[in-house]
Amino acid sequence: MHELSIAESLLAIVQEEIARHCLENVISVKIKVGKLTAIQPEALSFCFEIITEDTSLKGVALDIEVLAIKGYCEECKENFELEEPVMICPKCRNWNVRIKGGRELYVDAIEVE
Ligand SMILES: [Zn+2]
Repeated sequence: MHELSIAESLLAIVQEEIARHCLENVISVKIKVGKLTAIQPEALSFCFEIITEDTSLKGVALDIEVLAIKGYCEECKENFELEEPVMICPKCRNWNVRIKGGRELYVDAIEVE
């Protein structure tokens, strides 16, 4: 389960941002994760809840938005989105595709009261 280490690095990032901007009463943290990271949103929320238990972020909700896998076909020169990590162009069915998105993992916003 790699969600625990991810939750820990997220927490570090969030705490750094909070300190830098002197934020108070944080109610939620919005993060974006690409589908290719294979992160389970429920597992990540759960881990985040556990590791924030003894911190000032106790009870802060993790709002996770999953981003689609984005590809680009070298043959038909088109961008497309994929539901599954199968790298085939949905239009011409060839494998000559480039991954343009889906590996994202970042803190998008920190919401305060
Ligand atoms: Zn194509």
